[in-house]
Amino acid sequence: MARLELDDVRKVFTDDDGSDIVAVDDVTVDIADGEFLVLVGPSGCGKSTTLRMIAGLETVSGGDIRLGGRSIVGQKPQDRDIAMVFQSYALYPHMTTRENMSFGLEESTDLPDSEIAERVENAAELLNIPELLDRKPGELSGGQQQRVALGRAIVREPEVFLMDEPLSNLDAKLRSQMRTELQRIQEDLDTTTVYVTHDQTEAMTMGDRIAVLDGGELQQAGTPLECYHRPANKFVAGFIGEPAMNFFDATVDGDTLVADRFEYRLTAEQREAVADAGSVTLGIRPEDIEVVAGGDPGDNAFTTVVDVVEPMGNENAVYLGFESDPSDPFVATVGGMRRLDADEQVVARFPEEAVHLFDAATGEALH
Ligand code: ATP
Repeated sequence: MARLELDDVRKVFTDDDGSDIVAVDDVTVDIADGEFLVLVGPSGCGKSTTLRMIAGLETVSGGDIRLGGRSIVGQKPQDRDIAMVFQSYALYPHMTTRENMSFGLEESTDLPDSEIAERVENAAELLNIPELLDRKPGELSGGQQQRVALGRAIVREPEVFLMDEPLSNLDAKLRSQMRTELQRIQEDLDTTTVYVTHDQTEAMTMGDRIAVLDGGELQQAGTPLECYHRPANKFVAGFIGEPAMNFFDATVDGDTLVADRFEYRLTAEQREAVADAGSVTLGIRPEDIEVVAGGDPGDNAFTTVVDVVEPMGNENAVYLGFESDPSDPFVATVGGMRRLDADEQVVARFPEEAVHLFDAATGEALH
């Protein structure tokens, strides 16, 4: 069983002046056997360091990492049954695909040649590259080279795959193709996988679960839909989703949230949730805002003025300013068939069930 457990894992680097950099701050996450977990977060949040500690390429400053219930901290990388795939393919240019894939097994195992050849053939089938087995990296496209790099990991039949932004050198179209293919391969092999990316779309589409990191700290671990619908805090809410969630600071006054440019009427449930918070941040996703023709706005709907319309394919991102003070517009997404022009007046409604509330001081979600 390849259950991978990170238990209060910590990494502290020392910089040139001798001060500490906490790269990974007591991260605890439990990755089930066969699960595809995506570690996601902005640049410098500690994703690669976490992965490198699992691989054994970086020592651990605190906490424990267990594979199949046994601690692997202190084990050499080559003794861990883990294969890593990097952003750079690092293929040997003078070797064919077949040789690149078999080399590691020939060097580090006693497997008979026939077994190695069979594993290479099977991996090539799985990756749809049997016809490339006799070519050298110089004769392969970037996407094909990435498949070979994956093949090299697959033939090892490890208990865990670690992938550090493996698709980031591919163009957008190939990247989205490879995403789907990687998922298929991972499902076929059923190998526990930790996949690092800074791209929230990649995380949302690929992961069984995602673990969102910021500043070395785990912000939330959950299914993509949990993180989208019930973000644990303002950071996760703003990081997941494109365009990003809109935020408005407000104070609580009875059953009303008083923001700078509008007032929002709380439901009974929301009122209870904010009861102990002095200041609140109201969050609403662009896709949840209802944009309707002008007229009497009614409760939790506001007269706004269209500032800019940005086409996004089948939808438009529409920047709207409050009529009373149109500076600092917020964004709503509106179906592409609907024509909206700059300076047009429209009503934006914030449906109560789509409103997220956060403690303004801590950023924690208020449910
Ligand atoms: P990116 O997406 O940019 O690769 P990341 O989330 O993978 O970022 P890490 O590379 O894990 O982030 O780095 C986390 C923090 O640790 C950063 O502040 C980084 O500067 C610091 N760091 C990483 N490696 C070292 C090192 N060898 N020495 C000192 N500090 C380091």
